[in-house]
Amino acid sequence: MGCGTSKVLPEPPKNVHLDLVKKVEPSSGYKTDVCKLFIKGEGDAIKSAIPSPPCYTSPHAEQSEPRKTRVAKYRAKFDPRVTAKYDIKALIGRGSFSRVVRVEHKATKQPYAIKLIETKYREGREVCESELCVLRRVRHTNIIQLIEVFETQERVYMVMELATGGELFDRIIAKGSFTERDATRVLQMVLDGVKYLHTLGITHRDLKPENLLYYHPGMDSKIMITDFGLASARKKGDDCLMKTTCGTPEYIAPEILVRKPYTNSVDMWALGVISYILLSGTMPFEDENRTRLYRQILKGKYSYSGEPWPSVSNLAKDFIDRLLTVDPSDRMTAFQALKHPWVVSMAASSSMKNLHRSISQNLLKRASSRCQSTKSAQSTRSSRSTKSNKSRRVRERELRELNLRYQQQCNG
Ligand code: ADP
Ligand code: MG
Repeated sequence: MGCGTSKVLPEPPKNVHLDLVKKVEPSSGYKTDVCKLFIKGEGDAIKSAIPSPPCYTSPHAEQSEPRKTRVAKYRAKFDPRVTAKYDIKALIGRGSFSRVVRVEHKATKQPYAIKLIETKYREGREVCESELCVLRRVRHTNIIQLIEVFETQERVYMVMELATGGELFDRIIAKGSFTERDATRVLQMVLDGVKYLHTLGITHRDLKPENLLYYHPGMDSKIMITDFGLASARKKGDDCLMKTTCGTPEYIAPEILVRKPYTNSVDMWALGVISYILLSGTMPFEDENRTRLYRQILKGKYSYSGEPWPSVSNLAKDFIDRLLTVDPSDRMTAFQALKHPWVVSMAASSSMKNLHRSISQNLLKRASSRCQSTKSAQSTRSSRSTKSNKSRRVRERELRELNLRYQQQCNG
């Protein structure tokens, strides 16, 4: 008996067209910014025995479309009960099964986010159930708060706190400096949230930088964990073992790949991957070929070579090593990670070293090369669906801008 939901995310039927979402090849996405490129770009990955979470995008939502038209179109998707209470302002995010819009409460003028999930098909329903089941139970400063829910036959609208500070890596690139102390601050907040979840018997199962949002744009903003679509909540009487194969390839723990029953320590593995990226701008496990990627993960094979690793403290590396431990029973728990000397000392001894230049260069370099390879892959597979619906012109401009930024980073 597992504590996970029965959610397995197999490939949905081919050519299924949902109102807002459509299945696309997970490997063919153009991304709108360097961080999304860094996190999501998957090159030409082959399909492995492990089904990857299906990836959906709007077939209609042309980025080049005037914003007003787009907003009007999304507004039309909203139930009158929702629009009676909230003004739909802008589309701010797109996920696997969802659209996220910024709204304003008509009476109080308070801004919120509404996540709209299509529940017509099984995958959307399951993701929605998991997310609601968890969000209804949690209340923590580092976890996005659910305000209210509207349900119709085919859609669920989750009104949530609005995070306006952007995703983790957008902030790092924009910030201009990043030290180990900054990294420990980020990790401490995420670990606090994860420890709380684990105490409640909840495993997030999709921790990654794009699901970590800053609450506001200020320097002192807290960070918040979002996206509980793959989360698993232990029910009363359950053991704490889960079996469902799910997650995002680069962050999946080895025990999930070998299909062993697993525990909440899979979140700790993902935090090891996030810590590695946070300190270097590179991925610990990376290969365009998914079989090779999984092989690396299973071996727990990663290195500290290249910039900025020589400038990173041994304590920080020890922290990562204790999370990227293949045997989950040897891996640190959230409680232990919060007590690790690197986190406790707030990296005092090495805090002054600014790692920003290497980290942002690595992020931009990777984004740029990903964009190039995706572009050429795209031209040879033009019949395939693309994750983004941007026009070619817009994508090419993005690529030029990206290369320019990278060159500027290198020169400056
Ligand atoms: P999915 O489960 O489909 O990945 P997410 O919950 O991650 O959906 O939402 C998709 C994107 O929408 C996020 O990456 C983020 O950029 C944005 N987003 C989600 N929730 C919020 C929120 N509460 N405040 C601000 N932006 C949000
Ligand atoms: Mg997400």
